[in-house]
Amino acid sequence: MAGFFKSLYNKIANKAEIDWDELEADLISADLGPKLAMTIVAELQDLGRQVSAEDVIESARRHVANRLPPDSPPLLPRMDGKPFVFLVVGINGVGKTTSCAKLAHWLQRRGQPTVLAAADTFRAAAVEQLERWGQRLNIPVVKGQPNADPSSVCFNAHQKAIADGSKYLICDTAGRLHTRHNLMEELSKIKRTLAKNDETAPHLTLLVVDATTGANALQQAKEFHKACPLDGVIVTKMDGSGKGGVAVSIYDQLGIAPRFLGTGEEPEQFALFSKQKFVEEMF
Ligand code: GDP
Repeated sequence: MAGFFKSLYNKIANKAEIDWDELEADLISADLGPKLAMTIVAELQDLGRQVSAEDVIESARRHVANRLPPDSPPLLPRMDGKPFVFLVVGINGVGKTTSCAKLAHWLQRRGQPTVLAAADTFRAAAVEQLERWGQRLNIPVVKGQPNADPSSVCFNAHQKAIADGSKYLICDTAGRLHTRHNLMEELSKIKRTLAKNDETAPHLTLLVVDATTGANALQQAKEFHKACPLDGVIVTKMDGSGKGGVAVSIYDQLGIAPRFLGTGEEPEQFALFSKQKFVEEMF
């Protein structure tokens, strides 16, 4: 058992009786969401006997496992030789640019040539950051002029990936959420533009969320999902104070599965989501 649930176990084990309100609040603070917290508490109360710390952890673990998706099928390059296109979205600061670089590195280490599109053109720093990653990891990065239209950057990067015979293209997009309308416009334009080169692209739209931001991450997922249907989530900063509960609540409430986990600032600190490992680490 690790981190949060270990402390919860110790706290309960040291008490003569469980304070149900406190337990519910604790489960909510693990980012499991009020609905799941209430379900766990109600189930424990229904046991009709003295409830132990083991009972609490076992019930939470079982509910978490039931609310996580099975592992996704392996990522495979396209059969038609065209690049598989990722569209990566998320608000600033969650680790989006780092995750794009980590994902590209993860693919390249598996022998899959990958191109990065620096389409977060709104922030010069984001473009520079991706370029630095590209140099460090030996991954081609396509960028535009400052404040260039993000969709034109994605278009050019897509063409380069096709011309080079790259297997994957990863588009790092701007994380502005000030109005859903603008976001929707920008992301739809990027999608239309990618479809000009390959009508099936983008193939996977991933939202990056920061595990340490709790309920905010769920709110971001709701907003982005309305603006642009999401296929999966990259949960970053799982090494920090993040409890992993955001992955559970996003899947539970929106049906959007976690696909990758970021576990540090280094490029290798990135892994495919695995339900079994995730539950083991959480508890
Ligand atoms: P963006 O604004 O969403 O593109 O975020 P960045 O990629 O610039 O990342 C913001 C900060 O989070 C940087 O300092 C990253 O090194 C850090 N970061 C990203 N992913 C992780 C992670 O999985 N764990 C930790 N500890 N830090 C991360």
